[in-house]
Amino acid sequence: MKVLVTGGAGFIGSNLVRQVLQESGDEVVNLDKLTYAGNLASIRDVENEPRHHFEKVDLCDAEGVRAVFEKHSPDHVIHLAAESHVDRSISGPGDFIQTNVVGTFNLLQASRDAWEGELDAHRFLHVSTDEVYGSLSTSDPAFSESTSYDPHSPYSASKAASDHLVRAWGDTYGLQVLVTNCSNNYGPYQYPEKLIPVVILKCLKEEAIPVYGSGENVRDWLYVDDHCRALRTVLEKGTPGQTYNVGGNNEMKNIELVQLLCGILDQSQPRPGGARHEDLIEFVKDRAGHDFRYAINASKIRDELGWEPLETAATGFRRTVEWYLGANEWLSSLGARG
Ligand code: NAD
Repeated sequence: MKVLVTGGAGFIGSNLVRQVLQESGDEVVNLDKLTYAGNLASIRDVENEPRHHFEKVDLCDAEGVRAVFEKHSPDHVIHLAAESHVDRSISGPGDFIQTNVVGTFNLLQASRDAWEGELDAHRFLHVSTDEVYGSLSTSDPAFSESTSYDPHSPYSASKAASDHLVRAWGDTYGLQVLVTNCSNNYGPYQYPEKLIPVVILKCLKEEAIPVYGSGENVRDWLYVDDHCRALRTVLEKGTPGQTYNVGGNNEMKNIELVQLLCGILDQSQPRPGGARHEDLIEFVKDRAGHDFRYAINASKIRDELGWEPLETAATGFRRTVEWYLGANEWLSSLGARG
């Protein structure tokens, strides 16, 4: 089987490409524009693997996307490429509309054309986020697959738009589409603008750790390898036309998460004079339109497809901190360690 993975030089994509190559005999066509968030150093260990074909292509270049289908004839698509950082979507939403909406449209059209006459033999898995469902209060039930969309940021609105396009291409043209909506991922190779790597690197540099508002916002955290297994499970066993929510059963307030990471670093990288890393925390002005709580009900993918997260919070966050502590070369390739 040959799978076209878009965004395979990004955080989740690079972990997925590695997992597919290591745990299956499948071939991977890795389509990535290499924006600031995409990095060949994230796939250095698999770059010479003969079953891995990297193509530097912008999803907004419709002809370039078609050429990848013509050259490689992929059997299936797992679509991860996106502009993914909420703060950047607030300061510059244009790229989010182009990549997340227009880019997804280009990929859908290229898939349709390439698989014309044999659509039933091919699957298009679109990777989306729980942020499309909006914000929960403390007492609300977790998001299910039937929760109405209510996006609040340019990022989540652009992802919601792309989800709708994907479903419409399934209903209208018969493309065998699957959609996953996932909670916050953590693990190796996450670009250091997102909360967990920011906290770790600020601690290592002895700099203030910025926490939005009073740190009360709640997120559900999923280890990236578990997400990658979920995607492979949905591609293989999911029912076309269906949506699957993917979550870690691991809700935490941001401040609790930051304190947990600080505690791990207190043990592995003690500060001079016995000070605590948590003393570096600095509360900053809240993000505009900051959703209060996300929570995922992942019972459908568990009951129907047999997927459950394997990593626990106790081990996953420690593994992640240890990975960043040993990732000097990767961080230097981003200019992120000084
Ligand atoms: P990321 O920002 O780390 O990586 C995105 C990748 O897409 C990069 O390699 C980048 O170069 C590539 N890319 C961006 N624009 C492109 C374009 N126009 N053409 C081709 N490639 C382009 O993102 P991530 O955190 O790995 O997220 C991957 C997907 O998973 C996204 O669709 C995101 O919405 C979704 N998701 C992420 C999370 C999370 O916690 N990280 C949670 C739920 C869903």
